[in-house]
Amino acid sequence: MKITDIKVWPTRVAENRSWIFVEVNTDEGVTGFGEATNSGGGGVIMVARMVELVRETVQGADFAEGLIGQNANEIERIWQNLYRRFTTLGPRGLVTSVISGIDMALWDIKGKTLGVPIYELLGGKVRDSIQLYTHVRNQDDPTMAAAHARELVDMGHTALKTDPFVEMRIRHRRYLDGRISAAGAQHGIDVMTAIREEVGPEIDLMVDAHGNFNVPTAIDLCNRMKDVSLNWFEEPVQPESINALRQVKNGTDTPLCVGERLYTRYDFADVLSEGLTNYIMPDICWTGGISEMRKIASLAETYYVPISPHDALGTLNVVGGAQVMMATPNFYRLETGPDTADIYNKVLKEPIEFIGDQFTLPDKPGLGVELDTEYLAAHPDPHWAQAGGGG
Ligand SMILES: [Mg+2]
Repeated sequence: MKITDIKVWPTRVAENRSWIFVEVNTDEGVTGFGEATNSGGGGVIMVARMVELVRETVQGADFAEGLIGQNANEIERIWQNLYRRFTTLGPRGLVTSVISGIDMALWDIKGKTLGVPIYELLGGKVRDSIQLYTHVRNQDDPTMAAAHARELVDMGHTALKTDPFVEMRIRHRRYLDGRISAAGAQHGIDVMTAIREEVGPEIDLMVDAHGNFNVPTAIDLCNRMKDVSLNWFEEPVQPESINALRQVKNGTDTPLCVGERLYTRYDFADVLSEGLTNYIMPDICWTGGISEMRKIASLAETYYVPISPHDALGTLNVVGGAQVMMATPNFYRLETGPDTADIYNKVLKEPIEFIGDQFTLPDKPGLGVELDTEYLAAHPDPHWAQAGGGG
């Protein structure tokens, strides 16, 4: 079964929110979809352009065979070739995002060809549905945040994450010194304390720090969260330095979670073997797709570390993660961005549904969902169009 074409769909689903889908066509008429969403810093254009680049052979260049004409069944071979092709550039981040979209589409094709969901190809179910966690909003005000947490719990959610250090929002792509003001730190503590008081001890609570802190600040904030009893403090420091993470880990008893910006099993190996995190959170759209998520999950299993995929992106981010976690024993929970499945359903022909904190995957072949390409065509990302994409 040969790949005949690859299309990229940078799609604007809401104000300032774009998802990138990858469509792989074959000569047997089976089409697969994957997701390679990126945002900020021109990421949409970079990823979409690169998907287009790997589609075609770069004539005369060493090891630059395009994907058109390759055997769609050979997922692992294609993964290895793409990863090693960019070995000089460094095959992390941008390259693994592109691989993720293509890999997911190839698994979708394989499942559709064989008539089974992807989790059947990974060994079959170890659970019947996927447990979720979601996000608390209104972090600017502790009382309002607690009220939203109450709403979510009343909807049936049992685990909630939020980023209470609102002063650091402007630093999400602009890390400088990792400091926060005394008032900003106290606000974060107040938000989490209010949420804990509102929802009681049974609900799992997580804090996302987005890597915004330096080592002493991260240790201080983790320790001041002690009475909140967090399930995890996420990305206390930027992802580049394993030494910084080790210092934080040694300085606090608060459980940590890292991994949305770790790419492939190679990045996770040291973090796991040194015991530097209590949970891992690879992103299936960034770390290398279904193939890599499966390998990372198995690696973590050998350390008894739970995996909780990062899913702050689009529909196939959630669905792809769910497919792998259906067959993964050491699973904690899957992230969902909004409270309901409404935004994910914008791009689907048939909707998915979350009931309370549970997501039951459609029992259909491949990823189990079909993207609505008419919607994708009607809602292009404006920056992609500006850059001359899709033409
Ligand atoms: Mg995060």
